[in-house]
Amino acid sequence: MVTEKEGGVRAGIDLGGTGTRIVIMENQQQIAVAAMPTALFDSVPDAMRSGRLAQKVRELLPAGKRLISLGIGASGPVNNQTGIIENNDTLAAFSYFPLVEQMQQHLGVPVNIDNDAVAAALGEYYLGAGRGSQRLLMVTLGTGVGVALLDNGKPWRTASGAHPEAGHIPVGGDSPPCYCGLEGCWESLAARSWLQKALHATWRDEPYDDLALPYYQQRCEADPDVAGIFARYGRHVGRGLNSLLTLYGPDITLLSGSAAHFYPLFQPGMASALSRAAGYAVNKQILPSQLGDSAGALGAALLYRLERAA
Ligand SMILES: [Zn+2]
Repeated sequence: MVTEKEGGVRAGIDLGGTGTRIVIMENQQQIAVAAMPTALFDSVPDAMRSGRLAQKVRELLPAGKRLISLGIGASGPVNNQTGIIENNDTLAAFSYFPLVEQMQQHLGVPVNIDNDAVAAALGEYYLGAGRGSQRLLMVTLGTGVGVALLDNGKPWRTASGAHPEAGHIPVGGDSPPCYCGLEGCWESLAARSWLQKALHATWRDEPYDDLALPYYQQRCEADPDVAGIFARYGRHVGRGLNSLLTLYGPDITLLSGSAAHFYPLFQPGMASALSRAAGYAVNKQILPSQLGDSAGALGAALLYRLERAA
């Protein structure tokens, strides 16, 4: 078997509900990357879907490089015993068939799979803002709220092997019933979707997605209503973080996902929700992620390290 020293490279795939990203990594450095809409695979017949994904990996391999492993980080629940994705809600095209086994056959290398939040946390732990952490908490503020915890680089799991679905801890407040069946879920108040909806309600005529942080900074300075939305959003984020910081006691907490981009605007609101009496203080080293959108794919390429550590 070729090793990394002999020119072997590793691939990582971040399979998201909306987008898929593939990276090739050599000696822990990204040497190639490709991004594509996940919907690209919807029209591929079931029997050919894993073959098409494997082809995308092969196309990305630089000439002369030999693939030695593949890791997949998938959105939603992944059964760690069978390696099968169980996410008919947002990743139906890759759910409920033996993707890992098929990718192994197509590529002829070992394949590991895990939830995408776990993969992103691993990426930050080995290559980004989580380096050196003994207990890393990573919270993704995107379409939903994803949570992963690493204990010295090892994912914390439930008794059934799943990662904690901590976006669904109830934090109260005025929110509609969640699709999970509870009311007042953290996700309904702290996902990017809440922020997006609140901003849309204030200015109906303006897009949300294309605008950068400096634009919102200006709007916050000019309009107390807009500043108030970010402050409220920060308090929502802080409310759920309180539970997690109290229970897990992480030394570093990282915020990732599309809403983390606005961290400077919601940080004061979040800090106000986290302030407690002396003696009850929790570690408040909360930082934005360093790898951004690449964390999931890079972390997926590093999933082989979990096997080795186990
Ligand atoms: Zn819920």
